[in-house]
This record gives sequence, C-alpha cells and structure tokens, in this order.
Amino acid sequence: MHKDIATPVRTQEILKKYGFSFKKSLGQNFLIDPNILRNIVGHADLTKDSAAIEVGPGIGALTEHLARQAGKVVSFEIDQRLLPVLEDTLSPYDNVEIIHSDVLKANVKEVIDTQLAGYEDIMVVANLPYYVTTPILMKLLLEGLPLRGMVVMMQKEVADRISAKPGTKAYGSLSIAVQYYMQAEIAMIVPKTVFMPQPNVDSAVLRLIRHDTPPVQVKDEDFFFTVTKAAFAQRRKTLLNNLQSQLPNGKARKEEILVALEEAGIEPTRRGETLSIEEFGKLSDHLLPIFHS
Ligand code: SAM
Repeated sequence: MHKDIATPVRTQEILKKYGFSFKKSLGQNFLIDPNILRNIVGHADLTKDSAAIEVGPGIGALTEHLARQAGKVVSFEIDQRLLPVLEDTLSPYDNVEIIHSDVLKANVKEVIDTQLAGYEDIMVVANLPYYVTTPILMKLLLEGLPLRGMVVMMQKEVADRISAKPGTKAYGSLSIAVQYYMQAEIAMIVPKTVFMPQPNVDSAVLRLIRHDTPPVQVKDEDFFFTVTKAAFAQRRKTLLNNLQSQLPNGKARKEEILVALEEAGIEPTRRGETLSIEEFGKLSDHLLPIFHS
C-alpha cells in the first residue's frame, strides 16, 4: 500500500513541491486525515464491481482511497494547476481518470456511458466545493444518471437542510427536492481541523441512497416542485396564503385552491413546513388541473 496523500506532512510536501496556493474562490479545502477518508469511503459501500464519480479531487486525497476500493474512478477537476500534481500523486493507480472540467458544464451522462460502461453500481463520492454544493447536487440528481447514491461532504448547515424531516426548522423545498429522489441521512459530522486550510463553517457527510420506489408518484414533476417552492416562499404564512401569492393568478383562484386542499385532505391553515412529501404530492396533483387547464 502506498503512503497516504492525506497526512499533514505529505500534503505540505506536495503543495511545496508544486508551489501550489489555495484558491478560496474554488472552495479548496483539502482533507488531511486518512481516518476521515476511510470513513467517508466506507459509507459508500464500494467493491471492485463499483465505480465512483468524484467532484474536485484536489491533490487526490479522497481519490486514492476511492481507487483502492472501487473498480474505476472518474474525477472532475476545474483547476488546471492540479493536473500535473494529480498525474504525480495518483501515478500508483491505473483505475483513475481525471477529467479537466467544470462539473456543472460537463456531460456526466456521456462520461458514464463511455468511461464507466459495464459498471452497474455507480456512486458519487466527493468532498464538494462548498460554494457550489447545491447546484452540483441538483445537477447530478436531475440529469437522470444511473446512480445508486452519493456520499458527499458539504457544509453542515446544507446537510441539515437536505436531510430535514417535516415539522423542523431546517425542512424546506431543498429537503423535498433531494428526498424526492433519494433517502437522505447525515453519516458523520466532520471537525474543521481535518482540512487544510480550515473552512469557516462546520462540515458533514451526507449519505444519499436512491429510493427503491419513489415516495410519491406525481402527475407532473415540474409542477410538484413549483408547488413545494411556493409553499415555503414565506415560512410564516399559511399554505393557502403562500399558494395564493405564488401560483399564477392565485389570488383569483382562492376557492379552487381551497377545494384542492380539501380533496388532498390538508387544512389550509397549515404551514408548508408541516407537509410530508406524500402530502405535497397529493396537493400538487389536485392543484394541477386548476393551473394547467
Ligand atoms: N477532494 C479533495 C480533498 O478532499 O482533499 C479536494 C476537495 S476541495 C473541498 C474541492 C475541489 O473541487 C477543489 O479541488 C476545487 O478545485 C474543485 N472544484 C471547485 N469547483 C469545481 C467545479 N465547478 N467542477 C469541478 N471541480 C471543482
């Protein structure tokens, strides 16, 4: 087994050798603790029949742990300065493909079809750049990729919001957007001290596993997400108020909205944060004929 990249000493050595300076604007906080890396990868349940997709390899700290456990790793890195570093640090591993690209602009589906052909078990595993956590997650969820799930480090506050249950302060349209596709749980809380440089915020590893069967079957997904966003537009307002003010021509459609709420078995005075995904599903199906007629 090769010496871990993610020790404070080795990381310093690599940074010095390449004269690398961190770019805050790219969310560059590298992991320097091999135990944390083993734990993260452990939560992904990889075997040599699995493939891993990583976003942002940095100097390869997590990438090498993935390469040891998975059959193949593809990793998207935006920062060109890291390419020669990765070439060097990951040279012991022949099952890693680094793709120099902004993951938000990349055609991930095509990369899976070409680079990961034959792999039926694909996990996203990443220590995400925090400035784009939500766009990256939503892109990977919405593109219909054949993923079993994701194990992703992010700022704790976002992990709390994504995994939140109804009736809690953190529960909102982001919780529903993600939990519609995948079961979400916080796998571990990670202290600032395991990063170089240390971030300003607390971190957590979120584990997302695709539902065997979706929690709701809705008639129109886009409208379902429109309704959930509308319901949380102003958290203090009742559901009825938010739907009226957010949905097109909602004020004039009060009576119809009230009928839809009744048909869905939901009290109009409830707040959006008390509704389960199933209730949002029912509600959006009953509202659909009113707004898409
Ligand atoms: N995986 C490494 C680790 O754990 O030490 C580095 C993680 S660091 C939090 C985030 C990495 O994502 C950096 O290497 C950064 O350059 C890269 N990055 C930032 N924005 C990106 C983007 N839009 N697409 C691909 N990589 C990105």
